[in-house]
Amino acid sequence: MYNPKSTIATEFISDSEIRATMEYARENRGNRALVESVLEKARAFKGLTHREAALLLECDDHEIVERIYSLANEIKHHFYGNRIVMFAPLYLSNYCVNGCVYCPYHAKNRSIRRKRLTQDEIRAEVMALQDMGHKRLALEAGEHPTMNPIEYILESIKTIYSIKHRNGAIRRVNVNIAATTVENYRRLRDAGIGTYILFQETYNKENYEALHPTGPKSDYAYHTEAMDRAMQGGIDDVGIGVLFGLETYRYDFIGMLMHAEHLEATYGVGPHTISVPRLCKADDVDTADFENAVPDDIFYRIVAIIRIAVPYTGMIISTRESAASRERLLELGISQISGGSRTSVGGYVTEETPDDSSAQFDIADHRSLDEVVGWLLDLDHIPSFCTACYREGRTGDRFMTLLKNGQISNCCLPNALITLKEYLRDYASPDTRVKGEAMIKRLLSDVPNERVRAKAADYLSKIDNGERDFRF
Ligand code: SAM
Repeated sequence: MYNPKSTIATEFISDSEIRATMEYARENRGNRALVESVLEKARAFKGLTHREAALLLECDDHEIVERIYSLANEIKHHFYGNRIVMFAPLYLSNYCVNGCVYCPYHAKNRSIRRKRLTQDEIRAEVMALQDMGHKRLALEAGEHPTMNPIEYILESIKTIYSIKHRNGAIRRVNVNIAATTVENYRRLRDAGIGTYILFQETYNKENYEALHPTGPKSDYAYHTEAMDRAMQGGIDDVGIGVLFGLETYRYDFIGMLMHAEHLEATYGVGPHTISVPRLCKADDVDTADFENAVPDDIFYRIVAIIRIAVPYTGMIISTRESAASRERLLELGISQISGGSRTSVGGYVTEETPDDSSAQFDIADHRSLDEVVGWLLDLDHIPSFCTACYREGRTGDRFMTLLKNGQISNCCLPNALITLKEYLRDYASPDTRVKGEAMIKRLLSDVPNERVRAKAADYLSKIDNGERDFRF
């Protein structure tokens, strides 16, 4: 039985509701009046239900698709301006006891090089990341009760926050580790994490069980209910996602929106972010073995309609996508991207050879962070290294309320400019610095509140004089 407020996985992700929604969307895709009414509702910038979003996804009429794209772009600008938040993944350990068939960490893979960073190695990785200019990380690890227990993750977070190398600092550590207990989520919260991220991989229970044949992750209910436990453990900001390519995109698109609806209905706040990874080639993983690959045009529609359906949620794209695909996706609603990423364990310090690698998957965007920042500036996006919200206690529903009523823009734009300025002073190439300074000069006058604008100008000149870490 479908019940968005239930905390039982098969009730808030109801297989029969997903199938009924797919049927509804197929039957009504030619109903122009209905499609127009959904687009009209979307224009209020208050989101759509999973049924309405599924209907839009079925529309392949060129004119409708173009309207969806332009609305997604408008919504993105309304809530996020042209700011793009920057981050990098940090892989701690690829030891794993699970059997996920699409992931090279799977326990039976004998060809991947297994590695777990020591605290000293973490220090070296973090210094390398700080020297690139990163301020925000996403921690990644396989699931292994003895090699990567929660104590190891907690100790690593403490190490990361403690490192102040030159002007560098990691100010927000997001964590992408396996589903765990309420008690462990509480410990992660107490360690000061930003967002807890966990991808569902697929919402289709039967397929999920086939793709996760062994290990703790094979328990569909435990995995699907993880965000409920995280919320119960006091983590305000959670990030969801599916791995597109494992299941038919229609099923997972609807399932993911139902998950967002469940969190909103049950805890009063939806997901902080949604990630949209697509399956990549990896050691011992051949994408040709998976028949649900999502083509680019459908993928762009998925991203645009998620933007319309959950307007307040940040959307993340990683270096799994090429520069060309990322450029398109930025126009359709993406608000966070990674740059200069390595998916190998220890990869920021040590180059690996392709045939002796600890990497999780092959990335498609190999540019350095400076190249990505310069490219964003050329495209008139503001690369932002801001981490202020959660450091100022603006998390969960407090953040969402400010975002929904537009007040957040008084913080976000000046914070983006201030953190971009820090980046330009400390890490940028001369060319990027010139472009960035010009953008700051041009956009400072867009800060709506006069008092905030004056203060931001003061902070920017203090950064020029060597001071750091200002925020609104
Ligand atoms: N071990 C943690 C868990 O069980 O959720 C998460 C960490 S894992 C390093 C992060 C994500 O990488 C997974 O959730 C999965 O979606 C993604 N991933 C695994 N194999 C992949 C592949 N071949 N291509 C792209 N992404 C992949």
